[in-house]
Amino acid sequence: MERCPVYKKCGGCDFQGVPYEEQLKIKETQVRQLLAPFCKVHPIAGMKNPYHYRNKVHAVFSHDKKGNAVSGVYQKGTHIVVPVERCMIEDEKADEIIGSIRGLLKSFKIRTYDEDTGYGLLRHVLVRRGFASGEILVVLVTASPVFPSKNNFVKALRKLHPEITTIVQNVNGRGTSMVLGNQEKTLYGKGYIEDILCGYTFRISPKSFYQVNPAQTEILYKKAIKLAGLTGKELVLDAYCGIGTIGLIASRGAGQVIGVELNRDAVRDAVANAKRNQVKNVRFYCADAGKFMVDMAADGVKADVVFMDPPRSGSDVTFLDCLAKMAPKRVVYISCEPESLARDLKYLKKKGYQAEGAWPVDMFGWTGCVETVVMLSRK
Ligand code: SAH
Repeated sequence: MERCPVYKKCGGCDFQGVPYEEQLKIKETQVRQLLAPFCKVHPIAGMKNPYHYRNKVHAVFSHDKKGNAVSGVYQKGTHIVVPVERCMIEDEKADEIIGSIRGLLKSFKIRTYDEDTGYGLLRHVLVRRGFASGEILVVLVTASPVFPSKNNFVKALRKLHPEITTIVQNVNGRGTSMVLGNQEKTLYGKGYIEDILCGYTFRISPKSFYQVNPAQTEILYKKAIKLAGLTGKELVLDAYCGIGTIGLIASRGAGQVIGVELNRDAVRDAVANAKRNQVKNVRFYCADAGKFMVDMAADGVKADVVFMDPPRSGSDVTFLDCLAKMAPKRVVYISCEPESLARDLKYLKKKGYQAEGAWPVDMFGWTGCVETVVMLSRK
């Protein structure tokens, strides 16, 4: 089994050294223990190949004491950069591109950003690859909008990697731990990539959320949509919809789909994705999902089926209360954090929603994370 030389400092792979089959058992058991009070937990769907599955790779740039550029990850809980050449879960092409960027810096006299002094330009590099499309997005995060010799730098990078389809400069001058800033400039190509999931084409911008493991995502979405039991008539709500993936894939089986999402860039992508796939029965809204539910309830709009796919922290009481008031016959809850999932299931149970079954899917081999889809129906 492959062993990573920096796993202790990186801290990303909790299951380093644990055979993959074992990891699956541990995750399944964890979900089973947490969800035992609510429903049956089905066997976990594991990955065919648990290596190099991450289609989004982020590297922080810094320099060593001699001033040489280094790139990698923050040592767990610190701002010390651990150099990473290659990673067993990241896309190999992305790691190669990051290495090339590091190699180019010196001849272009580009200095990496120093968090203590505030000097230097390059802070982070983000690479996203569409596994089905082969398109590659490179985001160069700089501390200032002024990027001397950027045209020649882009040329040199494209010469080394003609497979890159777009390059974006993102400006982050703030002293926060957020990777991306608000200002963006496309240096080459269209500024986003497209990828294909379940037969639909999706546009993905630098700041939009997109599942990092496309092969497993298809398994997850297919399961979720099957559980929704759509007949072609339903009004479907896709809450926390990101770039609209679930809602758009579900649209062919539904009457109408409404998607809601907080991130403006993701909503813009979702709207473009509806057009791109010629889907006419969906509408996307940019709002907090909880607030949106309050408005929907006030307007008397009643969804028949609700998909919800909140961030790790789970949903909130406002959302769950309105959900219960709206009284959809089915709720399909997709979760990347079984603890917040269990908390929300407990709340929904009190509100009359019974979980009918849980299906864990492993999207994040070697890490402790596990994704679960749960189907609930109204009693
Ligand atoms: N369903 C999508 C995205 C899931 S990730 C997919 O499968 O790709 C969770 C999403 O919830 C993110 O896009 C995030 O921006 C969004 N989000 C976080 N908090 C939110 C809130 N309060 N209201 C609406 N959306 C929110």
